Amino acid sequence: MDWLLTPGPVRLHPKALEALARPQLHHRTEPARALFLRARTLLKEAFGTQGEVLILTGSGTLAMEALVKNLFAPGERVLVPVYGKFSERFYEIALEAGLDVHRLDFPYGRVPGPEDVARKGYRGLLLVHSETSTGALADLPALARAFKAENPEGLVGADMVTSLLLKEVALEAFGVDAAASGSQKGLMCPPGLGFVALAPRALAALRPRGYYLDLSRELRAQREGESAWTPAINLVGAVAAVLEEVLPRLEAHLELKAWQNELLYGVGEALGLRPVPEVRSPAVAAFYLPEGVAYGAVKEAFARRKAVIAGGQGPLKGRIFRLSLMGHYDRYEALGVAALFREAFSDILPAS
Ligand SMILES: *Cc1c(COP(=O)(O)O)cnc(C)c1O
Repeated sequence: MDWLLTPGPVRLHPKALEALARPQLHHRTEPARALFLRARTLLKEAFGTQGEVLILTGSGTLAMEALVKNLFAPGERVLVPVYGKFSERFYEIALEAGLDVHRLDFPYGRVPGPEDVARKGYRGLLLVHSETSTGALADLPALARAFKAENPEGLVGADMVTSLLLKEVALEAFGVDAAASGSQKGLMCPPGLGFVALAPRALAALRPRGYYLDLSRELRAQREGESAWTPAINLVGAVAAVLEEVLPRLEAHLELKAWQNELLYGVGEALGLRPVPEVRSPAVAAFYLPEGVAYGAVKEAFARRKAVIAGGQGPLKGRIFRLSLMGHYDRYEALGVAALFREAFSDILPAS
């Protein structure tokens, strides 16, 4: 088996594999309804909300689009700080949704501060919690607080795709009204599901649009344990099985994930590599390539050891590489990956 060190999809949790081996359920039957409701209850706990979590068949980007289109009407003014490929995606989705989008640019690797979003006159603010493209972590509670001090009626939407099950999240406690995530990152499941979490404030403010993306239609169906259209019910089973295993020991899990990511940063820094982010997300370790070393050479050195890694995106393409242990890895497997990382670089930097 290859070492999947990419920031999604990731190495699967054994409980997900076990769940996926079960016979097909029909989605309009009692066992499927019970499973769907159980998954939604567990997801509400994972997102830390008293509101609702909707399970959509699609990837994380679908959840981001559903969030934007069901929360904001065309012409409404939203603020979108751009500090990586995924915050750029939020910007593009908001533009396509016909919103009056105000973009704030930050160098990749940095994150906005509260002073940047303390601006009046906005209906919404869209933020990425863990910017997987740079490895940076935004301080959502501080940003939401600063924005809402100027816009008490404003709504904050967040991409929590690589913070769910990797870093503490809690919608209402963070001042976040809606969040998007997916199955193939911290949840250690295959790709194929997107989640939209809606805090009570967002539920009260829904402006549904779209057909497949109509969240009020989903809400009616999902409260009864069904979805409007055929769901990827097998994946819903995998998500429920993983959450049942991880949520009772979430604190230890988050500690392990943070330790594993810092382990990678420790190896990189000892090799003389410069980290990309100023504030580090526990989901991924991102490093600038050493002078004169092409990304292809780094990728090859890992590939020779059966490890798959990721390069840079957007302006960081060809300038950085990224490693992630957000999949299912225990402490000793992570130490093995750290050794693999060191060895791979002995091919690249033989002098060190
Ligand atoms: C992976 C990811 C997404 C969603 O990407 P999909 O390919 O659509 O699942 C969104 N935001 C962040 C921060 C991600 O890491």
